[in-house]
Amino acid sequence: MIARYSRLGLTLAAAGALAMASCRPQSDNGAPEATAADIGFDRYKERFIDSLWYYNPGWASSQGFHKYDEVLVLPTAGRRQIENKAAARGLKELQGFEFDKLSPNNQTDYLMMVNQLRSTRWYNDTLRSWEWDPSQYNLGAPVAEILNGRYQPLPQRLRSISGKINRAIEYYEAAKNNLRNPTPEHLQLAILQNKGGLEVFGQPLLDSVDRADLPAREKEELRARIANTREAMQSYITFLDQELRPQAKRSFRIGKPLFDRKFAYDIVANASADEVYGRALAHKKELLRDMAGRATRLWPKYMPGQPLPADTLTRIRQVVAKLSATHTTPQGFVGAVRQQIPQLVKFVDEHKLLTQDPTKPLVVRETPLYMRGSGAGASVSAPGPYDKSADTYYNVEPLDGVPAEQAESYLREYNQYTLQILNIHEAIPGHYTQLVYANRSPSIIKAILGNGAMIEGWAVYAERMMLESGYGGNSDEIWLMWDKWNMRVTLNTILDHLVQTGTISEAETVQMLMRDGFQEEAEARNKWRRATLSQVQLSSYFTGYSEIMALRDELKKKQGNDFDLKTFNEQFLSYGSAPVKYIRQMMLR
Ligand code: ZN
Ligand code: ZN
Repeated sequence: MIARYSRLGLTLAAAGALAMASCRPQSDNGAPEATAADIGFDRYKERFIDSLWYYNPGWASSQGFHKYDEVLVLPTAGRRQIENKAAARGLKELQGFEFDKLSPNNQTDYLMMVNQLRSTRWYNDTLRSWEWDPSQYNLGAPVAEILNGRYQPLPQRLRSISGKINRAIEYYEAAKNNLRNPTPEHLQLAILQNKGGLEVFGQPLLDSVDRADLPAREKEELRARIANTREAMQSYITFLDQELRPQAKRSFRIGKPLFDRKFAYDIVANASADEVYGRALAHKKELLRDMAGRATRLWPKYMPGQPLPADTLTRIRQVVAKLSATHTTPQGFVGAVRQQIPQLVKFVDEHKLLTQDPTKPLVVRETPLYMRGSGAGASVSAPGPYDKSADTYYNVEPLDGVPAEQAESYLREYNQYTLQILNIHEAIPGHYTQLVYANRSPSIIKAILGNGAMIEGWAVYAERMMLESGYGGNSDEIWLMWDKWNMRVTLNTILDHLVQTGTISEAETVQMLMRDGFQEEAEARNKWRRATLSQVQLSSYFTGYSEIMALRDELKKKQGNDFDLKTFNEQFLSYGSAPVKYIRQMMLR
């Protein structure tokens, strides 16, 4: 039941996952010969992952491991007990290893494994979202994933689906038994998503069954199971809508104690949730001060002859609007992205920011049809740990078919300045570059448990590091637009905190995001919704970013004139997608 960082979507889940993540000994890479302790631990990691997949078959399928595709976990109390026992056993087994004898790569793996096991128990026993979040239960998503997978021929995939939905009725009965006092927001989401899930079991699936090369008896059985599943889902929707709705009184705010713990388990930061919140408030002030200065300087250039407004927020808003007006065309969008990538590669090389690997080029492509419509205009997709094909793609969603008004609003958002920042973030030296480095310290643990705050934090840090190194000519224009962009992740953290541990209302939220974040109303309302449905995830970007900046400052202070940016960047990336907290321990050693 742990869908980590699912907000990043399939593509970034895969970005945490690495192309060549087999557990081969380090000596294959020309690194020092592995010690006996490491060899033993590497063997244990394979068992650990086997067990992880055995207990989380849905997660396994999503990572490209298909052995358990046909297994459905019934979310019962007995099942949770079994999971807790397995976690306790794993923690005990880990105690049998001598931590100090392991390589840095294995030490960080070790700590991530401990965190994973502890958090499993905490999710089951303390957070208990299984009793208040009805949207956890939906057979549509896992079945769609199997159906759309291209890794196996259709008959085999249909057999997996047949196995998966064999106990659909029991599955939804267990869900009904679990639920008490849900939040109205998650109840509403569950109804919506299960209605969507029903579509998966509609005519296209039945047509596939007709078409497939399977014995008639098996087809009959599968059709009957599909009918049962539909019925179970309908009954679940009715149950939510009619029986459970009157009990749906729980607040979507999980409150401070749970928020603090969830923050600790999901983010694994040096700082506490409160400290990060304080950091975000201070950073917001800094950003506003910086933006005011730049907007004031830019005013005569972009608003010639117009009087300077007394209110600095108005100044900023008007200059930002003016700068957003220059952008590419809907037809030129993908081309504009494609054209920028070699320029970013060149800049990183010329400014010696880090060593790049020319043998692993990033392929820019139009987002494949089946991946479109998620709202992510651009994303990196890399082969998962079980996919050995080597290409990494930068998916860019073309705007040709998009209604003119919507395309215009999108292009204003990704204008001449922010499009460059987007490319830095997603591609070079952001997510894509981080991924290439992560592939060099192959760890199946980090491929699967990769730390979202580190991954996102690096991409945000990369934007700033590029601008500091002179990308965009150190102009007020690009910095002003970066400030606005960075304000979004800063406000995400503030909002997450205020929504989940405080009392902020939707109206206050929308007002804050529009006033201090210069956001459109639609964006602000969507953000409110996301902040009520998720906890902690919105904090990951700023937390990772601020932890990396703090680590860099710490090392600058310690190393004085010896500090070298390129060395810092490369060393930081060399540990793979581990939490910044663990990377810091390694780097300060
Ligand atoms: Zn325009
Ligand atoms: Zn990102």
